[in-house]
Amino acid sequence: MNTWLLSHQQILSHQYEQNTLPHAILISGVAGTGKLELAQWLLYLLTCQQPQLSHHLKENILQACDSCKSCLLLKSNTYPDHLNLVTEKNSLGVDDIRHANSFLQKTAHLGKFKTVLINHAQTMTTQAANALLKTLEEPSANSVILLLTHDIENLLPTIVSRCRVLNIRPKVGKSLLQGLSEGMSGEKLVSDSDVKINTNFVNLTQLPELTDKVTNEAFQHFKVCYLNYLDGQRVETQLLQQLLNNQHALRWLEQITVDLQREKILGIMKITTAPTMMQTQLSSQVLHQIYKVIINGCKVIKSYTQANKQFVCEQLIMKISDVIEQTNINKQER
Ligand SMILES: [Zn+2]
Repeated sequence: MNTWLLSHQQILSHQYEQNTLPHAILISGVAGTGKLELAQWLLYLLTCQQPQLSHHLKENILQACDSCKSCLLLKSNTYPDHLNLVTEKNSLGVDDIRHANSFLQKTAHLGKFKTVLINHAQTMTTQAANALLKTLEEPSANSVILLLTHDIENLLPTIVSRCRVLNIRPKVGKSLLQGLSEGMSGEKLVSDSDVKINTNFVNLTQLPELTDKVTNEAFQHFKVCYLNYLDGQRVETQLLQQLLNNQHALRWLEQITVDLQREKILGIMKITTAPTMMQTQLSSQVLHQIYKVIINGCKVIKSYTQANKQFVCEQLIMKISDVIEQTNINKQER
């Protein structure tokens, strides 16, 4: 369990013991922060017939036993008092929510609680959100609805205000890096180089999904591709493919550009020679222009659910090319 989840677990454990758990809990945080991990822990706790204090931790955190009938049923996805609300479509529709509502109205078969997990809650249609609102306002006894989202701004404020909101933010600084290097067997993210530590601080605070080794490797590949592109290599197609196929890539694009700008301003890049820390010839002003182009592209994609992602990404790459080309022309004119 990520260390930054412990305080939430403590509070929820206490509320569980006091019978004061909220009926609706909204867990909010960017991808990779452990929202689902926290939700699963709580679901098991609510399901288990004999939860116990975990002895290896001093923090008064309750744990499911992992071996009673209820725990085993939940593990095999056949526990009758829990519903995982998933949709095959891009959004959660009103029928999905109605299904959850009627599920919650029936009395529990085995356990004390009836639970519903709604992952990607921001994908609820307005109609679906309104259907959920009724249930949130008149919750049935011993029901707990868990909503997860990486994009709380796209949830109806009426929904958010009816939920206890848990904001998941990873720790920053040395404790995070220490946790990481301990968690990753053999392979340390942190080298002795101050520069590298510095850069990792920035990235891991902003991009917590990089704590996952596979995602981190994908990030490094993406970064090399993007830097090659900035330095004038014709890699538009690869860059576009990554933007389209990797859910994180747009945010990475934004963050790498910010990092480059920052490194330019601080002038710290000269010290390093590692291949993933490549330098760009572009000035911080140009990088700032590119950053603005990226932010606009992200906004378009975020604000219109119907936006054609491929079209927006193609436009984005074209506009970045325009910025770079313009600076080259300016240089020649000088
Ligand atoms: Zn159990």
